[in-house]
Amino acid sequence: MNDPVGRIRRRLGELGADAALLTNLAHIRWSTGFTGSNGVALVDGTRVVFVTDPRYAEQARLECPDNEVVVTSGSFPEALRANSSPYGRIVLDALSLTVAQYRELARQFHESDLLIEAGWLDVEVARKQRSEIGRIAAAQALTDDVFTRLLEYLRPGVTERQVAAEIVYLHLQAGADRMSFEPIVASGPNGAFPHGRPGSRVLRDCEPVVIDMGCYLDGYASDMTRTVHIGPATNEFAETYKVVLEAQQLAIGIARSGLRADELDGVARAFLVDAGLGDYFVHSLGHGLGLDVHEWPRIGRNSEYVLPDSCVVTIEPGVYLPGKWGIRIEDIVVLSPEGCRNLTGSSSALLELDG
Ligand code: ZN
Ligand code: ZN
Repeated sequence: MNDPVGRIRRRLGELGADAALLTNLAHIRWSTGFTGSNGVALVDGTRVVFVTDPRYAEQARLECPDNEVVVTSGSFPEALRANSSPYGRIVLDALSLTVAQYRELARQFHESDLLIEAGWLDVEVARKQRSEIGRIAAAQALTDDVFTRLLEYLRPGVTERQVAAEIVYLHLQAGADRMSFEPIVASGPNGAFPHGRPGSRVLRDCEPVVIDMGCYLDGYASDMTRTVHIGPATNEFAETYKVVLEAQQLAIGIARSGLRADELDGVARAFLVDAGLGDYFVHSLGHGLGLDVHEWPRIGRNSEYVLPDSCVVTIEPGVYLPGKWGIRIEDIVVLSPEGCRNLTGSSSALLELDG
C-alpha cells in the first residue's frame, strides 16, 4: 500500500475510524491530485469523494479521475453528508480545520464520532515516494541555478527589495509555479533578524547578506539559505561562518531515518554552544519539506519523534548577532537508514563577492 489513499486507509484502521476528512490542501493534492485552492476530500474504505466549488468543476474532473467529484456552491459538509454513508467514526486534522468548519461538520455528521487528531497523516505524508523526491530535487535545482545567476546581481547600491524582486523574476522565468515563501534578503545588521523582510536598505561593500529563497515546481517546494559577503569578510565573520558551516556539516553527517529529531537538533546545538554561540541560535535546526515548504517533522529541541525513512528535511543552523549581522546556511537532504543525500547543489563555502 504505497499509494496515498492506501496509506490513509491503513491509518484509518490504526485509528479505528471508518472515514477521514481531508481539509489540508497539500494533503488533498497528495491523495487526489487536485491542485486548486478550495475543496475537501472524504476517504472511506472504498470511496474517495471530493467536493469543490463551481470554479473548479472542470479542473477537478480532469485532475481527480479516480474520485467521485461533487460540485456545490453551498456548504461542503452538507454536500459530503448527502454523498456519503453514515459513519461510526470520522478522523479530522486539528491543524487544518477552522472552528466554523468543525461546527458545520459536527451538525451534518451528528450521528458520527468525530475524532480530532492533530497531524494524524503527517508521518505518511513525510515518507516521500521516489517520484516526489525527484520533484523536490528538480525544484531545488531550479533554485540553485537562480542562486548562481543572482550572484552577479549582488552589488553595493541595490536594495534588498530589488534583490528580492530579481529572485522572484529569475524563478518565474525559469519555470517555477510560484515562490514557496517571500524571499528573505537581509543585509548587514538586518541579517540579525532571522526572518527579516526585504526592505529599502541598500547593500553595502564589506558586509554580509543572508538570502533565503525557494519555489514550488510541479507542486513541490525548494528552500535554501546562503549567506554571502560583499567584499572581503572580517576575521570574526569568517570564523563564525566556519563554525556555523561545521555545525551544519556535523548534522548532515549524522542525519538518517530512525534517529530522533531532537537528537539531530541537539548535535548542531551542542556544537554551537561549545563555540560560545548557543545563545544566538534561536530557532530549530530544520523542518520537513514537500508539498508544503514547511511540513512535519520540525527538527527542534522538543521534537520527540523518530525521523521516518525517505523524509526530506532542511538542515539550517544560524546565528544572529544583534546590531551586527546574521549567518544561516540551509540545505535540504533526503533521509535513509544509512544516512542522507544532499539535494542542494549550491556550494556552502564562504563566498566573498567583488564589492
Ligand atoms: Zn527552511
Ligand atoms: Zn529557508
